[in-house]
Amino acid sequence: MNTEARTLESWLDSGGRADYGVRIMVFDTHTHSKLSTDSKMNAEDGIRAARNKGIGIIFTEHYDADCPHPFPEFRVDGAAYLKAYEKYRAADVLLGIEIGLSMDFLQENKDAAARDFDVVIGSVHSVRGVDIYTDLNGGAKSINAGEYLTYMKELLNQDIFFDVLGHIDYPQRYVENPEEYDYLKNSDIYDEILHICVKKHIVPEINSKRLGDDKAFRQLAPIYAKYREFGGLFVTIGSDAHNPKNIGLNFKEAFDMARTFGLSPVYFEKRKSCTID
Ligand SMILES: [Zn+2]
Ligand SMILES: [Zn+2]
Repeated sequence: MNTEARTLESWLDSGGRADYGVRIMVFDTHTHSKLSTDSKMNAEDGIRAARNKGIGIIFTEHYDADCPHPFPEFRVDGAAYLKAYEKYRAADVLLGIEIGLSMDFLQENKDAAARDFDVVIGSVHSVRGVDIYTDLNGGAKSINAGEYLTYMKELLNQDIFFDVLGHIDYPQRYVENPEEYDYLKNSDIYDEILHICVKKHIVPEINSKRLGDDKAFRQLAPIYAKYREFGGLFVTIGSDAHNPKNIGLNFKEAFDMARTFGLSPVYFEKRKSCTID
């Protein structure tokens, strides 16, 4: 393989489609294949879709120890996953895991992360028995923005065994009034979270899933502006695609977000951050 590095500029200029064969420097850093309970995507189809877009792909399968679904749903077997997917590892295909953080399963989660992954994403998918997807999506239980963000802060104050803080705007995908999560309505707690990220070298993700929507872009902008103001330098950019079509979705907007606030997009390989430039 030609290892000439492609720059971010040239990738963006190419409209996201370019000659495959150069070393890919832009990765979709957050995707799920059929090893995640909520995805049916074959790894090969994901890899092909990423290559067609001229980007690399990082699989980050779900491991949620506190998920309300019966075992083994949403709890990928890390050893079996790495064994099955080792054959796909390449300059443009990396293997990671997305761990649903939980105060009740700190050790289980640390153990799940302690394998040969390129990246570990820590995400808050549930808050003390309230499952964000199920419960805020018309389910029985509820939490408010303050409770969600306070729980996130509590988790970030523990020992850190992950590289990336996944989708800080996860509940806004499902709640009726995403404005409840606006920076200005929760600035104290957002500031604490962002200060911890800077201090502990946790890289916040720009999750591109909602960024096709201008309102969502404007809602997230102050959070990344503050992160930079507090000394944060790096972000990862991931689509959270669960199918081939969504790989690289809204990347233009996500890179615009990073550039607007002077943040450098990175990806992780062997748990080390690699700058895209
Ligand atoms: Zn997630
Ligand atoms: Zn995900």
